[in-house]
Amino acid sequence: MTAARAKSPTFPCVRCGRPVRRAPATKQRPRTIACPRCRYLLYDYPRPAAGVLVVKGDAVLLLRRAHTPRLGCLDVPGGFMDAGESIEGAARRELREETGLTVGALKPLGFYWDTYDLPGFGKFPTMNWYFVGKWRRGVPVGADDAASAEWVPLSRLPRMKAEYAWEHMPELFAALRKWAKRG
Ligand SMILES: [Zn+2]
Repeated sequence: MTAARAKSPTFPCVRCGRPVRRAPATKQRPRTIACPRCRYLLYDYPRPAAGVLVVKGDAVLLLRRAHTPRLGCLDVPGGFMDAGESIEGAARRELREETGLTVGALKPLGFYWDTYDLPGFGKFPTMNWYFVGKWRRGVPVGADDAASAEWVPLSRLPRMKAEYAWEHMPELFAALRKWAKRG
């Protein structure tokens, strides 16, 4: 067992109450939460999230996270999808809730896997869709999940790697810089 797995928290089995924990995927099956006593088995399905990279000139809007996990780290406006939403609808709603900004048409940029660590519940897989939108109007106000908002020049992004909230962000920003070069 790796150190990371050893740290995965336990919580009660929903059927018998025995402590269970998340188990990583194997060749035979995806990630699961399996009870060793009553055999209750949950597939640990990924959760979908959507975000918007708002571009203004040569800068992109980033937020400082106001909450755990990854408190104080740089994030992109976005969040988990609600049931019944389209991916783009979720991205627009999160942008509105977190920044109050208006953007133009959203162009799909890419899709990235990651994990989200919820204290007491452990790490679960996330599917993260991103769109690019050009800033139209509004001054971003840090609200909801975000403590503050800042326009960061694309050229400065690689130097801020240590402050990124999520593992997929270097790949995401590389895709954004490619998109910007294409015009
Ligand atoms: Zn059980």
